[in-house]
Parts: sequence; C-alpha cells; structure tokens
Amino acid sequence: MKPYQFGPHPAESAVSARFARAEHFFEGKRKRLTPIRRRVLETLSVRRSAMSASKILDQLKTDGKAPHTQVAYRAREFLVEFGFAHKNEHLNTYVACTRPHAHHTPAFRICRMYDEATEAPSPASGDTMQRPAQETGFVVAATILKAVGICPGCLDDAGSKRNT
Ligand SMILES: [Zn+2]
Ligand SMILES: [Zn+2]
Repeated sequence: MKPYQFGPHPAESAVSARFARAEHFFEGKRKRLTPIRRRVLETLSVRRSAMSASKILDQLKTDGKAPHTQVAYRAREFLVEFGFAHKNEHLNTYVACTRPHAHHTPAFRICRMYDEATEAPSPASGDTMQRPAQETGFVVAATILKAVGICPGCLDDAGSKRNT
C-alpha cells in the first residue's frame, strides 16, 4: 500500500509546456532556471503530490551526484519565492504550483491517512484572513488553506479490505 497520488497526473506535454513558460518567465526577470532549480521543479511537477525536503533530495541523488543540502534548500525557496512551488508550512513539504504566477493563496488537500498533500483550487483569496487581521494589528506572513480528509486511493483501499 503506497501513498496514492490524487488528482490527475499531468501529461508529459503539460510538464514541458510548464518548463517553457518557466524559462520565459525567468528570462524576463533576469533570473536563471539553473540545472538544480530545474531538477527540483521537474521532480515536484512529475510527482504532483507534496514532497518533503528529504524526499526531494533523495530524488536528486538518483541523478548520480547529490547536491549540497543548502543548494537544494535554496533551489526550493527560489521556486517558492517566484510562485512555481508552494511550501506547506504545516507539513513542511513542497508541491509544484498548478497555476504559477496567478497570484493566489495556495489551498491544500491533505489525506490524513498519509499526510499527503496536493494543491487544490483555492476557493477564496487570502484576503478574507488578511483584512480582519490587519484591523487588529496582526501581520500575516502567510495564509494557508487546508482541507483534511481521505483521498480516493485510501478510500478504495479501505473498501477493498472490507470486501476481502
Ligand atoms: Zn499554486
Ligand atoms: Zn490517502
């Protein structure tokens, strides 16, 4: 029984289109999508569900030479900063953004069976949290929307166990 990747798996063409957009975007910003940044984005894009820093690093190691932990860390933060990935502060995992540069508050669906998270379309903007907070003088650093539940894979697993 392995964690089920919920949500549709992106087609290879969708992943390469995403890279073309990413490269174009960073050119405009005079930033470079360095090989390590590219590999992290690729790893997250293919996987679709959230990955912990150590899982990302494990994946990078399969390339033969493992990057320094700090280098991998900076690559992840770079992608987060420019909206190509989101960091789930609660689980300390990363997920590729499904709608890069559409400035939005990320929303996550978290399967509680495995603490697996995928990005979900966000129903509301972070504004709904931001405004009342401002009125009380509270400074919001990040807004995270989460829905905790059971993914279709775990539901299937539970169902098939009942039937055997
Ligand atoms: Zn996103
Ligand atoms: Zn699940």
